[in-house]
Amino acid sequence: MPVAGLGPYDNSNVFARILRGELPCQKIYEDEYALAFHDINPQAPVHVLVIPKTPYVSLADFTAQANPAEIAGFFAAVGNVARQLGLEAPGYRILANMGGHGHQEVPHLHVHIFGGRPLGPMLAV
Ligand code: AMP
Repeated sequence: MPVAGLGPYDNSNVFARILRGELPCQKIYEDEYALAFHDINPQAPVHVLVIPKTPYVSLADFTAQANPAEIAGFFAAVGNVARQLGLEAPGYRILANMGGHGHQEVPHLHVHIFGGRPLGPMLAV
């Protein structure tokens, strides 16, 4: 079910639990600002999620509340992950769902990275 994408932050969401080490993840990258791991239900040969280590519900919340270092650090991490995965030469797609129309399901900001095959047009429907 989609979530609103606006506060308050729910500390029991699945990505908060991964950050606290209460749930496992297939981690592929971590730095001061971000954690990246494989999506549990991949939609492409490469489907990775990058999340900020700080508690923001969505991109809306993040861009309104986070400080410039957090924002720069997080988006640098997204690019670093894609580079580390060897996706730059073939190309890749990033996506951040926000709120109801965006069909956001987990209320902790995450950027999807898709790659590993030609991804077709931007939206399937
Ligand atoms: P979204 O619709 O943008 O909120 O996407 C949420 C994503 O989180 C989906 O692609 C799910 O497959 C993924 N997901 C949910 N739980 C987990 C988990 N425990 N580990 C990895 N990915 C997950």
